[in-house]
Amino acid sequence: MKSSKKDIRALSREQLRSFFKEQGEKAFRGNQVYEWLWNKGAHSFEEMTNLSKDTRVFLNHHFVINHIKVDQMQQSKDGTIKNAVKLHDDLIVESVLIPTPTRTTACVSSQVGCSLDCKFCATARLKRMRNLNADEIFDQVLAIDKESRLYHNRPLSNIVFMGMGEPLMNYPNVIKAIDKITSEDGLGMAPRRITVSTSGVPKMIKKMADDEVRFNLAVSLHSAIDEVRTRIMPFNKTFPLQDLAEALRYWYQKTKKRVTYEYVIWKGINDQQKDIDALINFCHIIPCKVNLIEYNAIDDPSFIQASETSVQAYIRQLESHHIVVNIRRSRGKDIDAACGQLANKG
Ligand code: SAH
Repeated sequence: MKSSKKDIRALSREQLRSFFKEQGEKAFRGNQVYEWLWNKGAHSFEEMTNLSKDTRVFLNHHFVINHIKVDQMQQSKDGTIKNAVKLHDDLIVESVLIPTPTRTTACVSSQVGCSLDCKFCATARLKRMRNLNADEIFDQVLAIDKESRLYHNRPLSNIVFMGMGEPLMNYPNVIKAIDKITSEDGLGMAPRRITVSTSGVPKMIKKMADDEVRFNLAVSLHSAIDEVRTRIMPFNKTFPLQDLAEALRYWYQKTKKRVTYEYVIWKGINDQQKDIDALINFCHIIPCKVNLIEYNAIDDPSFIQASETSVQAYIRQLESHHIVVNIRRSRGKDIDAACGQLANKG
């Protein structure tokens, strides 16, 4: 049920301290509440046993504690875990835990649905319903960290913003969540272990550069030819490759950080020599690496994973131009947890 009370988790530690001072109470009560919310994961004011009964009732009167709930957890035979996460307004997003021998990666959502309309992505079918707030993003990470400790005996090591949504269309909340993830108050994770993946919103890439962010940038490129890219990612018409290239130059100039291009190769779409040539040219704009992602079929027959020969042609030629290229085999396919498959099927 929707409530008109304020979400107490939207307040910073300082704001909580001021709130108590304004009420004629000691400011340190603000610290206590903050710790209940963020270190002890309290879901109700009744749990805050070092506060007086009156204070708890008073808080309950003014605030709600909006928190996410892992509604359904599915585990793949390869160890990948997918959470269907219910938000306070009953909308659902998905997040994924991907274990490998050396790391455990959380793949988190930034929007319910997505603002964009990539033709090959299942999330695009949902349309955008709303942005997630910073806590809803942070909570997904916390939930996965818990599962990582429980099922893999180790904390989360990396985070990618590659779940549902376009993170740069919800930039302020993504930044707030990352601040919490990296701060000592939160998870204390190093920014270099975090990657924000975008379809490429030039203006926001420049903003990230101006903000001197310390996390990594990945761009879902999929084609370095405007005509092809617009066909599969229609918003490329509004943000053509030339604008993306300019934003990337600005990014590198300011941050000195290389970018990762994500790239799926499809039969008859981008598997020709001209596609490889265009990608190699694009890779010369700034230092980069290329992740070739295996296509996870959604129900559109026009998209088919390219042949192994085409993939090898890409790899050979990229490498001969000294471009680092990795192959990303998909994980969690059996539970629809792989890239582009998040669509609240459950
Ligand atoms: N909106 C952001 C993050 C979400 S998509 C972005 O576009 O980067 C995460 C990654 O999965 C992107 O690289 C996206 O292009 C890729 N992807 C989407 N659908 C896919 C599919 N069906 N198979 C493989 N990768 C897919």
